[in-house]
Amino acid sequence: MKDDIPNSPEARDAHNLMHPYTNARKLQSDGPLVIESGEGIYVTDIHGNRYIEAMSGLWSAGLGFSEKRLVAAATKQLEVLPFYHVFSQRSHGPAIDLAEKLVNLAPVPMSKAFFTNSGSEANDTAVKMLWYRAHAMGTPEKKKIISRLRGYHGVTVAAASMTGLPYNHMSFGLPLPGFLHTGSPHYWRDAEPDESEADFVARRARELEELILAEGPETIAAFIGEPVLGGGGVVVPPKGYWQAIQAVLDKYDILLIADEVICGFGRTGNMFGTETFGMKPDMMTLSKQITSSYQPFSALLVNDRVFEPIADESNRIGTFGHGYTGGGHPVGAAVALETLRIIEEDNLLDHVRRVGAHMQAGLAELADHPLVGEHRGVGLIAALELVTDKATKAPHGKPGALGGIASARMQAHGVISRNMTDALAFCPPMIVTEAEVDEILARTKLALDETA
Ligand code: PLP
Repeated sequence: MKDDIPNSPEARDAHNLMHPYTNARKLQSDGPLVIESGEGIYVTDIHGNRYIEAMSGLWSAGLGFSEKRLVAAATKQLEVLPFYHVFSQRSHGPAIDLAEKLVNLAPVPMSKAFFTNSGSEANDTAVKMLWYRAHAMGTPEKKKIISRLRGYHGVTVAAASMTGLPYNHMSFGLPLPGFLHTGSPHYWRDAEPDESEADFVARRARELEELILAEGPETIAAFIGEPVLGGGGVVVPPKGYWQAIQAVLDKYDILLIADEVICGFGRTGNMFGTETFGMKPDMMTLSKQITSSYQPFSALLVNDRVFEPIADESNRIGTFGHGYTGGGHPVGAAVALETLRIIEEDNLLDHVRRVGAHMQAGLAELADHPLVGEHRGVGLIAALELVTDKATKAPHGKPGALGGIASARMQAHGVISRNMTDALAFCPPMIVTEAEVDEILARTKLALDETA
């Protein structure tokens, strides 16, 4: 371990804390990076080393790490009503205000908000609502969910089943039956030789239709997708992709769930990724930047097609038997409301478009680097895909290999990034300035040169 002092925070961590998404044996030998404080886009570890958090933590602290207005909103709410719930016809002001705000903000007609605590719970809730709805509508077989390879929807049992990444299924025995996967929208990696972007989009739509027909359209409840696929490597869909997918879903009466957990609240330059890509979802799942992750919080927006049958069924059997103690927590809801006020008052969407364009242009220049196969991104989310051979697009092979080396080099240069196998992701707090972006780019270039 780097700091091998018996009672160091690193040693106590390795002794007592089991970490998510971690090789537990490696943690025991190497120890963790322990962060102590945050300011703006920076975090500082317990040894005084300062890092640019180029991933906003986990694509989440959109307003950076020291927004005083969020602290004040949380403190004020803690003093007035530190906890209440919204079960069984109980409610409280922050939940009411936030539900109204979200329904009004939705870029497509939505009729209700339902509150949960994490992205995974929001997505599991979407599945359970659809299952309940299927019974309500007298079509109990209409329950299967289609998602995409490389899609990321979380780790609870249904959410992990929808996720299309190997580590979320391997050694868990997932996905569960009834969760189907279709191809990812990654043109650069998945296109056939000489296939145009339009032909690739048409093929993906055709493959989806073939899957639906093979399973029986009457058995499929919904399709779930992130507007920009995040944890699967920041894949921006090609032009017309969502329209082609939507046409197939409409043809077979299949609902669309937009997983906005990363894209929501400004990341792509609009309030929602749904707007950036012209999607028409029936359900939207929201989390992370909704509170800038200062409080765990998530929400689900549903339209009348989803809500009305559920409402009737709850009346028939007596209740909608689903919900979380902390869902709609007053402190989280108060922080979410303040987050939304800041995004609007500070014109953060304009800022993301301007600084995002600057970041994408800088990353596009790095695409000339011998190790970079593709630059992709929109707004303030992007990736560089690293390859061993630009012509053949050969990946390094082992998970995390090149991307892992590059992100370790970036950390050595004071930038925290995240690699998904060989894709190096960039998702800085939305308050990042152009000068700070230049700093990230310069240090990334240094790291790439040292990786080559
Ligand atoms: N959906 C997307 C698109 C995500 O990126 C994530 C987490 O990164 C989730 C869902 C799951 O969210 P959580 O980790 O809060 O359960």
